[in-house]
Amino acid sequence: MALSRPLRLLSLVTRMLLGPRRDLAIRGPDEHLPVVRIPLALQRRQEQQESRRQSRRAPVLVRPGPLLVSARRPEFNQPARLTLGRWESAPLASRGWKNRRACRDHFSIERAQLEVPALQKLLSNENTFEDLGLEPHVLRALQEAAPEVVRPTNVQSRTIPPLLRGRHILCAAETGSGKTLSYLLPLLQRLVGRPRLGSSQISAPRGLVLVPSRELAEQVWAVARVLGNSLGLQVRELGGGHGMRRIRLRLSKQPTADVLVATPGALWKALKSRLISLEQLSFLVLDEADTLLDESFLELVDYILEKSHIAEGPSDLEDPYNPKAQLVLVGATFPEGVGQLLSKVTSPDSLRTITSPKLHCIMPHVRQTFMRLKGAEKVTELVQILKHHEKADRTGSTGSVLVFCNSSSTVNWLGYILDDHKIQHLRLQGQMPASMRVGIFQSFQKGSRDILLCTDIASRGLDSIHVELVVNYDFPFTLQDYIHRAGRVGRVGSEVPGTVISFVTHPWDVSLVQKIELAARRRKSLPGLESSVKEPLPQQI
Ligand code: ADP
Ligand code: MG
Repeated sequence: MALSRPLRLLSLVTRMLLGPRRDLAIRGPDEHLPVVRIPLALQRRQEQQESRRQSRRAPVLVRPGPLLVSARRPEFNQPARLTLGRWESAPLASRGWKNRRACRDHFSIERAQLEVPALQKLLSNENTFEDLGLEPHVLRALQEAAPEVVRPTNVQSRTIPPLLRGRHILCAAETGSGKTLSYLLPLLQRLVGRPRLGSSQISAPRGLVLVPSRELAEQVWAVARVLGNSLGLQVRELGGGHGMRRIRLRLSKQPTADVLVATPGALWKALKSRLISLEQLSFLVLDEADTLLDESFLELVDYILEKSHIAEGPSDLEDPYNPKAQLVLVGATFPEGVGQLLSKVTSPDSLRTITSPKLHCIMPHVRQTFMRLKGAEKVTELVQILKHHEKADRTGSTGSVLVFCNSSSTVNWLGYILDDHKIQHLRLQGQMPASMRVGIFQSFQKGSRDILLCTDIASRGLDSIHVELVVNYDFPFTLQDYIHRAGRVGRVGSEVPGTVISFVTHPWDVSLVQKIELAARRRKSLPGLESSVKEPLPQQI
């Protein structure tokens, strides 16, 4: 029977809507009635879950050979011979760590080599300190001050010759690569030959080394003093934390200092009170320059630079009776924006940049472990690590431990907890009275205690060859701070191979850890730091 036109249309539409669809329905026993069993989206989700379950069950193939990254979940292991390309997506072990369910997960960037990169080239490089232009009396002084220093490190080979020629230098090289001797040796040699001018009533040093902390001032002074003694130069230290009376007393006792190692605060006070003059300066070093040029110090350092007569170029340094200062900037991190700050100090053309290829990279000779923990778990984990360390120490096989916290109050609080557990330690934080702070790092260096609880004041420049383990109890706020803290182990001359353990708690910690993990897997420098030193670089180590 022929259907009328509207009815035919209705039947067509009904067939289109209810007609069997391949993916939505399957035909039931009655061929004409489609049976909808499962919606497509749900079916796909189930398939995905099943395949995920299967992949979880699938055995993980353990590739032979050493690992670059080892993780609790072995699917995130990366063999040492594999480097991820720049555009290749990386399977990060720390992905998903912002979720609290990731707690107690962990991964490590493994030690890829034993030797310190700063010394690596030495095996093939036959450079000696003599070849670099240092004179016999300076070499004798070096031998007396540091008999263990026989051959120059890479950074020393590159920095000493241009400094001897009177160039302004920006030296950016990794932590623990021997930067202190790189500038002290050539600058002291240049100073020995120059006459002392006038007999000024106030202290007028001929060389100035500016450092950001009292502890670092003591450390640099300790090296410079021994070298200076052998060369007939007087080296003095002017650290902060003391009142004007103490500064006046110190400077009146040492008006004839040739070289002064100072912190910006103390020097600023002395300059303002006209207790010191920088008119005779032949060299000015900013050690840990990025810290000195950051906001917290910038005003003080600006004033100090204003009072020093910085030379226009090497020819400006020739006249010994009209001294001008040779400028040296030294550091292990130079974050973005430092280039602009430097242009305020001197013209970019007159500054020679020396960088190390390992600058801002994850240290290949130090094992670095990251543990995702809840805040409440950190103390137990730390106590366990320290007890384990104590036990190992009884067998006499371990070095010392540095535990970093982000604030002075955490250092104090954690100290009381360690006291409760009878774990002997030292504490160092910025809010301690100056009298208490004096000598703490030195006694740690000498090994009177082998655990030091500290804030970032101990992360910049301080050198101890005994440190074996750095624990980031609080994860640092920036990648620079991570580099500096980790740089307390694995230094040139370190007696023990170093390890860094970081507790990761907050989402912002995880963001930094992911950057570190990605840089390690790609063997690239850390992001945000790579383009910081002025391009093009005239000389690369
Ligand atoms: P940086 O300032 O680059 O962080 P330091 O100048 O503090 O490093 O030196 C780190 C350690 O290396 C110090 O203990 C120092 O005595 C040692 N050192 C420096 N130069 C040499 C060298 N040429 N050979 C052996 N050890 C060295
Ligand atoms: Mg240093």
